[in-house]
Amino acid sequence: MSTPLIRVYNTLQHAKVPLEPITPGKLGVYVCGPTVYSYVHIGNARTFTSFDVIVRYLRFRGFEVKYVRNYTDVDDKIINAAKASGEDPIALAARFVGEFEADAKALHLIAPDVSPKVSETIPEIVALVKTLVEKGAAYVSGGDVYFEVRKFPGYLKLSGKNLDELQAGAGEREQKGEVKRDPGDFALWKGAKPGEPSWDSPWGKGRPGWHIECSAMSSKYLGETFDLHGGGLDLIFPHHDNEIAQSEAASGKTLCHCWMHGGFLDLDGAKMSKSLGNVVQLRDAMKRVDPEALRYFFLGTHYRQALAFNDKMLADAETRMEYFYETLKKIDERVTGKDFGQGALHGDPERFIAQFDEQMSDDFNFSGALGVLSGLFAELNQLADKPPVKDKPMVGRTLVALRGVVTRLSKVLGVFDDVPADWLLRRRDRQVVAKGLDVAKIEGLIADRKAAREAKNYAEGDRLRAEAKAMGVEFIDSPQGTTWKVIAELATA
Ligand code: AMP
Ligand code: ZN
Repeated sequence: MSTPLIRVYNTLQHAKVPLEPITPGKLGVYVCGPTVYSYVHIGNARTFTSFDVIVRYLRFRGFEVKYVRNYTDVDDKIINAAKASGEDPIALAARFVGEFEADAKALHLIAPDVSPKVSETIPEIVALVKTLVEKGAAYVSGGDVYFEVRKFPGYLKLSGKNLDELQAGAGEREQKGEVKRDPGDFALWKGAKPGEPSWDSPWGKGRPGWHIECSAMSSKYLGETFDLHGGGLDLIFPHHDNEIAQSEAASGKTLCHCWMHGGFLDLDGAKMSKSLGNVVQLRDAMKRVDPEALRYFFLGTHYRQALAFNDKMLADAETRMEYFYETLKKIDERVTGKDFGQGALHGDPERFIAQFDEQMSDDFNFSGALGVLSGLFAELNQLADKPPVKDKPMVGRTLVALRGVVTRLSKVLGVFDDVPADWLLRRRDRQVVAKGLDVAKIEGLIADRKAAREAKNYAEGDRLRAEAKAMGVEFIDSPQGTTWKVIAELATA
């Protein structure tokens, strides 16, 4: 079976289109990164995880990907946050870059190849604005520079919005003013205000507008035309429409072949956003459940669809992960250090890779890919639980091969990438804290039960097991002794 061609939904074409790299074998990917004025929430994290898995998958398929994700470290929100805390805006932004990187690492996000910052891209931004002024696409007004939207013929081609309708909707506030020629014109450069960060420019001291940074950074690192551009749905208009206008007016070339947009993570029916105040910070979510469980939760829904968040779903994702890790622990205990020789296998373990490719090639169907994993784990359990006595080496060999498939897929999805026993213990520790369990008491019950059973007092042994169960704890007996786990239904209720 040949590997399927990757098809990607392109917002610009409203359709899935074949991924055709500009340079064969290579891909340039630009993702709009965080505005660093606060801690990221799990809505932001969902979008970054989607593009993380997309880049990992493209690499898995053999593409040499150059992955750029910026930091917006000069922005009104940052300036306002700095005013509120009495900090220097650049220092505040630098602090939150550090916090973001710690969170991103904990969430197993791969580091982009380049993470440019606005504050470090000022010369390129100034040069780009200068080009736009020289070409007549932008004009200077006071100490500001504006992009003249009505001069760019393809303006709003990404969102499909209509400029006249937009302005009719804007009402009195956005009437043609002295500063702008048209209410739709947007700032490329803003003249300095007291107490705000500013840099020298041909138009006096000032700072970049929001959109110009991504045009400057993408062309700096990926060239004037590149393959894939990503971000959340909220960025289509105005941010990405404006990026296209700026870049294409300056270069005369297509900015990007394929525009990808991730759906929102919603809480109580509304987009999670700091301005609405309905946020769950990523670091808080990662205290409640394992980061891999959070990734697993995100991946359960197609990246373009809305994802409703609630605590129960997150807890359920971790319970599901527990099942996967228990399976892997069982398999590892069974096959590690053993040689099952060469020879025939049950079924074809590689078929799971082919099924995974089929799902991921279809516009990165994450939930379909997780469905393939479920099938793979069902097969692992079936083989591990019912070994045909006569062909044990064949079972062992197949388990080893399937375990290898899990490892390969886990590198793409960023889940099941831990040592199973370690992951399970960390999960249990969190459950113990959440339920306020007394570990010494549980271990006391296990010791008492062992003693009762040694004295052949099985009724007492059963009573002790029942006592543990009433606490929400299950005993697991094995030839190595008795261990315990927290019963998931009670833990997540
Ligand atoms: P920001 O820091 O606000 O610029 O957002 C960083 C990224 O997170 C952007 O790609 C946004 O589109 C995305 N984003 C913001 N809120 C959400 C949400 N509730 N769900 C999914 N993505 C979001
Ligand atoms: Zn951007």
